[in-house]
Amino acid sequence: MSLKNRVFLKHMSRGQWFIVAGGTAVIILIGVLSWYGYTRFAILSKRIARLDTKIDERLASITELLQNNLAEATTSFGNALNQETKNIQVQLGGVKNQVGSITDTVTDLQKLSKIDPELLAKYSKIFFLSDTYAPARLVEIPLAYKYSEKAQLQIIPEVLHYVQKMLDQAKIDGIALYVESAYRSFATQQALKGQYTVIYGAGTANQFSADQGYSEHQLGTTVDLITTGLDGKLAGFETTSAYAWVIANAYRYGFVISYPKDNSYYIFEPWHWRFVGVKLATDLNNSNTYFYTMDQRTIDTYLISLFD
Ligand SMILES: [Zn+2]
Repeated sequence: MSLKNRVFLKHMSRGQWFIVAGGTAVIILIGVLSWYGYTRFAILSKRIARLDTKIDERLASITELLQNNLAEATTSFGNALNQETKNIQVQLGGVKNQVGSITDTVTDLQKLSKIDPELLAKYSKIFFLSDTYAPARLVEIPLAYKYSEKAQLQIIPEVLHYVQKMLDQAKIDGIALYVESAYRSFATQQALKGQYTVIYGAGTANQFSADQGYSEHQLGTTVDLITTGLDGKLAGFETTSAYAWVIANAYRYGFVISYPKDNSYYIFEPWHWRFVGVKLATDLNNSNTYFYTMDQRTIDTYLISLFD
């Protein structure tokens, strides 16, 4: 310190000291405050930076979460929609099937209403045709299929076609097969029975001619078949090749033998064939059973397919 300064310091008044001290204190304070401020600023800056990062991270994770949730919601909504669509489709399918089955039922009923249930009824001492029963329509059997030119033979129109097809095939196979008798009214049957009774006596007549009302001939679906070489008689038919052919083939044309050998319902009538429809005749043939031994309820299920 120079002399001049020392002199100056020595001669400073108290006021001057106070100013110097105060100034120094202020400068120090400013320095301290600046340092403190700077430090705080640095810390806060770092905190803000960290906070920024955190906020960014949170934002990113929230965004991701939202995106995932949205994707999930979309997927589950899509699935629900698909399921609902499927449910509706299934329901619609069900409704369609119901409508279809109702339509089928109506069609079946319409078809059934046109088929006479008597045509597949079993006739016995309990169930018989009324004396007023007659087929709705009858047609004449063409000459080529009749054994006797003079005989007037009638059959229901739906069955004529099957008779013709059967006899045509027999002819192709070299078998002479003809219709000897077909539709017989209640009155005709009554007269025939009376005639047989007079000739053979009631006991014998009962064995080979059904009582009126029990005869399947009244239905207009039944035929008595005959072949050449029997002198126009039905007796002996079972010994002919024509009989063997009918036994083997009649079912293909919907005909069955009503009273086969050793049946417990009636005498053996090898010539007597009743039309029951191709389906029932085929099933009876395949199961080796006869019309009269089958349950009537089972038979009735074939009514709808009688003329198929
Ligand atoms: Zn007959």
